[in-house]
Order: sequence, then C-alpha cells, then structure tokens
Amino acid sequence: MATEHFTSKARIAIGSIWKPLIVTKTNNFEAAKTLFSAIIKSIMLYDVGIWGLQYTAEMERVAVEFEKGFLNVPKYTPGYMIRLETGRTHLDYDIIKKALSFCGRLANIREGRLPRKCWEKMKLQDRTNADNKKNWISQLKNKLKEYGHIEDNVENLKTATVQQSRPSVLCFTGSTIIIQVLKKIQSKLFETDQNRMLNSTYNVIYKRIKDNVTSLRAQYLNLNIPTTIKRIIAQIRLSGKLGWIAKIGNGLSYKIDGNEICQMCNRNEKEDIVHVLKKCPQYQQIRPVSLNDMEITDILRFNNEKLIWETVNFIKTSLKVRAFCLGE
Ligand SMILES: [Zn+2]
Repeated sequence: MATEHFTSKARIAIGSIWKPLIVTKTNNFEAAKTLFSAIIKSIMLYDVGIWGLQYTAEMERVAVEFEKGFLNVPKYTPGYMIRLETGRTHLDYDIIKKALSFCGRLANIREGRLPRKCWEKMKLQDRTNADNKKNWISQLKNKLKEYGHIEDNVENLKTATVQQSRPSVLCFTGSTIIIQVLKKIQSKLFETDQNRMLNSTYNVIYKRIKDNVTSLRAQYLNLNIPTTIKRIIAQIRLSGKLGWIAKIGNGLSYKIDGNEICQMCNRNEKEDIVHVLKKCPQYQQIRPVSLNDMEITDILRFNNEKLIWETVNFIKTSLKVRAFCLGE
C-alpha cells in the first residue's frame, strides 16, 4: 500500500536526520524542523494530495514520532500535546492543501486531454455512485466536510478563475477563495487540539501553562540553550498521569510514577511534578528560592533562562538524591 511504502521510507529518513542533529549538537528546534520538512515531507508527502487523503492519521503518527524523538519524551505522550508544544499544524492541513492544489491543476487542463477526462469521470462517479470510498473527489469532499466546508464543493471549482495551480488563487463557486478555506481548516485543527488539552485527564496543568490564544510553539524551544536542557523541560511539561521519565543526560534516567505516594517524605502526597518542584520537604535544602516563591504555572512556563537553569539543576540534583535515598 502507498501509505506503508511512504511512511516506512520516512521512518528510515528520520534515522538519517538524527546523525547530523547529534553531530552538529544543534540547539535549534527550527533547524530540526527544517530538516524534517525538507527530508521527511518530500518523501512521505510525495504527491500525497493524490493518494493520501485516507491515510492522514498514519502520516501524522510519523511526524509526532519524530517530534517525540527530538524532545525525548515517552511514546505514550498524547499527539495533541506534542503539536501544541511544537506549534505544528496536524498534517491533515498539508495533505488537503496539496489535494486542492492538484484540483486546481486538473481544472486548468484543456478539455479532451486524458487527465481532464479522468477528472470529469471521477466527478460523474462521485455524483452517481453511492459507494465512493475509492473515488479521490469523494475523499476530498468528505475531508472538507469534516472541517465544515459543506458548500465548498470541489467539483464546482471555477475553472475560469483558475489562473495558476497555487491554492491562494483558486476559488470555489461563490468565490470562496481556497486560501480562506485552508485558514479555516488550520484554525479548526488547532481548536481540536486545544479542546483535547482543555478536557485532558492525562495532564491537568498543561492548559494553565500553555498560552492558549496562539498556536505558537513553546518559548523555551526558541531559546539558545542546549537541546539536552530543552528535553528535560519537555519531559517535565508534558508529563502526565502515567508518571514522568526524566532523562537527565550521561545515561541517567529516572522513571517516577506520579500516582504513587512520595516515599521521600511523610506528607502522604502523590509524587508528581508539583510535589517534587514545590512541596517535598526533603528537597527544601537544595530548592532554589525562586521555586519557593513562584507559582507552579509560572515555573512550568520556563520562559526565562535563569529560571530554566535553576529548575533543571534542581531536578537533576533532587532525582540523584532520591535515587540514593531509595537505593534505586
Ligand atoms: Zn515528598
């Protein structure tokens, strides 16, 4: 199947991305993202507008896998949190955009030519055949319906106004410019992730630390700090009810079940990230003043470098103390 072919090729390409990222010790998430776009998207999303409309979920999984690998967070971290953290739009958007662009190219082809005949035939089948699962036009229409574009009918693309294949100049009948349709799809996808975040039982703090009026990536990912530090921050911010895994470098990794009671103190509280950062009295001696003074939500925003270094160093030391005391 096309999707298996392209996703497995993409996974192999991901392997080739890691080496230059590690060798160059890049701290720049933008650089990693650019590499991802250049290599993965060109392989996995090759002509995806034609074959991929049914398989967007599989392809999105590959993209999320890459980002989880970059952030070094557990595989069970929800995809919506990864997208909100990195500020990336779900691949549905890219795939629909490519499909609409392809539509424009077809609508622009002279009548009588083979691709145009196929396009007309597919439109006819879409209208007359109830079982249209394999029909590309029907798939695209269904995708648009998913995002509320019921009236924006693909088959009514106004060929007269189509001058180029760029989506920005394509129009549906009624002059709905496709770029507006794409913007709405992008907003809807962000809204869906945002709603999942607001209703999340996996992580109830994230909605309070995520700037929910924008789809921009978390600030710390843009700072010029080592990737190892960004990863520890991501592990803390994206931790959830399944606990948290802190990989603090030099092969040291700690897994903490946030549902279990803290064995380091007698407060009878769950050992979640809030307990370790703010409450556990056993770490009071090594806890920076800023952590005592600040609200947990302000700490977890990690938006200034001084606080980042203080918090990450505290986490590293407290986890070593914990491991020593508990004999782990
Ligand atoms: Zn404790």
